[in-house]
Formats: sequence, structure tokens, C-alpha cells
Amino acid sequence: MQGGSMDPLEEQAQAVVIGSSVAGLLAAAALADRYEQVFVVEPMIAQPLPQAHHVHGLLSSGWEAMQQLLPGLKHRLINERVCWVHYGKEFRWKHFGRDKVGFEDEMVGPFCSRQILQHAIRTEVLSLPNVVVISGRVDALLGSSRKLTGVQLSDGAEITGELVVDASGRQAIGALCLKNQGFADIPETHYPVNLKYSSLRVQAGPQIHHAAWKSLFVIPEAPKTESGAIFPLEDGSFLITLSGRGDDRMPKTVEEWYSFADRVGDAEFSACVAECQPLDEMNHYRFTEALWRQYHKGKVPKNFYAIGDALCSLNPLFGQGMTLCALGALALRDTVQRSGDGASRGYFELVSRAVGQAWNMTKLEDMRYPQWEEQCSPLSKKLQNYTRDVYAVSSQCPRTNFRLYQVIHLQKSVSALFAPWLIRKVLQYRNLPSSTA
Ligand SMILES: Cc1cc2nc3c(=O)[nH]c(=O)nc-3n(C[C@H](O)[C@H](O)[C@H](O)COP(=O)(O)OP(=O)(O)OC[C@H]3O[C@@H](n4cnc5c(N)ncnc54)[C@H](O)[C@@H]3O)c2cc1C
Repeated sequence: MQGGSMDPLEEQAQAVVIGSSVAGLLAAAALADRYEQVFVVEPMIAQPLPQAHHVHGLLSSGWEAMQQLLPGLKHRLINERVCWVHYGKEFRWKHFGRDKVGFEDEMVGPFCSRQILQHAIRTEVLSLPNVVVISGRVDALLGSSRKLTGVQLSDGAEITGELVVDASGRQAIGALCLKNQGFADIPETHYPVNLKYSSLRVQAGPQIHHAAWKSLFVIPEAPKTESGAIFPLEDGSFLITLSGRGDDRMPKTVEEWYSFADRVGDAEFSACVAECQPLDEMNHYRFTEALWRQYHKGKVPKNFYAIGDALCSLNPLFGQGMTLCALGALALRDTVQRSGDGASRGYFELVSRAVGQAWNMTKLEDMRYPQWEEQCSPLSKKLQNYTRDVYAVSSQCPRTNFRLYQVIHLQKSVSALFAPWLIRKVLQYRNLPSSTA
């Protein structure tokens, strides 16, 4: 290149992404427009992760973000025969002991196994000519505390890149290396959740096949802990996930699994589960604590990014994880397009808006459990009471239910729950003689 301004692509030929699960693949899609070559490093190519055996819902903002990054994804999922569920009409959500009222809106999303969703994302991303997945395990970062130059693999091989994205999941090798190599020590915030999952893939009976809904989710009001979800899969079978918390003894045998389903305490759910025949072994998972690495409060090498669980790993009951991967990838795309030099300036602030909303909402729900009683501030208690009443109103008022969905699905900020019309509805509900407010 002679004189004049340089084509940014010439300077920024390669990018490196650590991990090829949802976050890593979407990050690669986000970078593919900007970089000549995107290398994705992964030690366990195409192997299912332990959480993939459990129900994985995708929030509508996550689905929209995935489509922006991968316009062919919808078509691919249609070919995979995933089930499309209209949240307003076909997703039955029994929340705090009440059924929610339906609403008219095209809020629709793919319901399928985590494996098939990830497989479809992977196939789309690998069809991009400049994305390459390399088999290997990153165990060091190259460069300095000011700027990274790439990564080193456990076999000693080096991959250079003008930027490095840590998408290695909750264990976050990027954060570990930053600390061990003396580049940065990022503050973390965490709190115990102690959630337990137990899932079975089943052949459904007539009740599920003839139900007015396509998916059923029963989530209790604290201090009750047991919840359950019935989720359609692409092959016509269903995945049923039961969850408990704290000292709940999770089922060890299929018989115990059926009786745990009764403890969810919903007659329709129990009756549906009772008719199902197991197709696979039971799978279990224990989620101990929520964790948020607060990069927006620290100083990292200027071309380092973290995304997905490597940034924030939340109580999975609220189904936000993959959505945060997708929203993070959009923020990554916007940041590299804006900065032009791979610098992550502004990225962590941008992404922490969505992460912060998801974190605060789930934490408020987790803090309804008695062990939090003393640590819950008066403001948090007020918010819990208000949102509990919004949930109650959402069982009667379609507009309220739709608004609640928009907030939970991270389409609108939490402040949308405090719109004057909604506050009025909550106050009216509180004045009803039968209200528990
Ligand atoms: C039981 C359970 C249920 C869940 N349900 C939902 C749900 O309903 N909806 C939802 O949206 N989310 C759900 N989640 C959360 C969701 O699974 C995660 O948020 C999501 O998998 C995060 O994706 P990720 O790519 O950031 O990390 P991961 O999926 O953990 O992937 C990290 C990848 O990095 C690779 N890697 C690790 N170390 C290295 C290294 N040193 N070098 C290179 N690569 C490395 C790993 O092999 C892996 O492929 C659930 C989670 C659990 C545990």
C-alpha cells in the first residue's frame, strides 16, 4: 500500500474467536463482514455441551438478532422441521399459579433442541467463506496488557489476530489468561442460585398432542421451588425439564421423575407428563451461581472482547443465555464497524445494558426465596411486589401480558413496566377485594 489512507481490511486481516458454541459462532458471523479471515478455536468441535440435554428456549430479541446476523438461519430451521411457536397464542405459561391471557402479536420463535439450533447456526456460519474452525484449546493470550496479538494453543501453535473474542463459556479462558498473565484483573459479581435440572426426552400422549398450546411452562411463586416445562422438538418428540432448588432432592429413577413432576403442583402438567413415555436416559444439571464479569468497570487490552457466558452466566430458568450471546454479537458487529481498528472501546458499556437488564430481572426473581429475606433491600421488595402484581394483571389483560413479554424477551427496557397505563392497571388490581396485593 503506498501513501494515502489505508484500507482497514488490509490492516485487519484476521480475527480470533475462542470457542465455537452459540456465542463463538455468532461472534464469527458478526466479524465476517469486516475481517478477511475469522479463526474460531474449539477443542470439542460439534460435541453437545452438558446443558444441551435440557430445555432451551430462545427469547424473541435473541431470535431477531440471530436473523440479522444470519439471514439464512430461518430457512435452515424450517428445513430442520423445528416447531414455530406464537408466544401470544401457543405458549402456555402458568406463572405464580395463574395462567396468562393470550395476546395478538407476531412474536414467534423456533422451538427445538439446543443441538439442532446450534447445528443450524454452525452450518450457516461455516458457509461463510472466510470463517474457519480450528480444532484446539486456547491456553494463553499473545501480546501485552495494552494490545493482544493473538492466542496460543495448548500444543504451542499460535494464531495471530487483530482482535480476540473470548466466547469460551462460563469458565472463560480469556478472563483467566488476562489475570494469570498479569494483563487485567476483572471484577466479578456473583450470587448463589443452586438450581437443579432433570430432563427426559419423551414420546407424548394424547393430552399434549391435542392441547391448544404447543409448549407449556409452569413456574411457581416462591417459596415453592419446583417448576416444569414441556417443549416440542424437531423430531416430533418432546423434552420435559423439571427443576428444583436448594435442598430439593432431584429424581434418580424414572419413577421418582414422574412423582417429581406431580410436585410441580399443576394438574394439567401432571396429567400430560403421566402419559409420556421416556425415549432416552434422564439427564441432570446443577447450576450453582450466577456470575457477571464486569468488564465495563475494568481495563483490558484494547482489542479484547468477551461474549456470552464468558461475560455473564445467568440462572437458566429465565432462558436468556443464548439471547445475550446474540445481542452481544450485534454489539460486537456495531463496535468493530464503528471503531475501524478492532478496538473494543464502548463495546462492554453497550453490551452491559442488555446484560444488566437480564441480570437485574433474574436476581429480583431469585431473591424472592426466603434465604434472601434479610439481604433484600426495601426497594427490591417494593419492586417484587409490583412485578408480582403485573404478573397477576397479565393473567387478565392482553395488553399487560404483551408488555410483560416484551420486557422479559429484552425487546423493551424494564422501565416499560412502569408506563402510566400499567401502573393504573396494577393499582386497580390492588383495589379489587380479592387481590392479594
Ligand atoms: C441447564 C441449562 C439450561 C439452559 N436453558 C437455557 C434456555 O432455555 N435458553 C437460553 O437462552 N439459554 C439457556 N441456558 C444458557 C445457555 O446454555 C448458555 O447461555 C449458552 O450455552 C452460552 O453459550 P456460550 O457460547 O457463551 O458458551 P458455551 O455454550 O458454554 O460454549 C463455550 C464453548 O467454548 C469452548 N471452549 C472452552 N474452553 C475453551 C478453550 N480453552 N479454547 C477454545 N474453546 C474453548 C467450549 O468447548 C464450548 O464449545 C441454559 C443453561 C443451562 C446450564
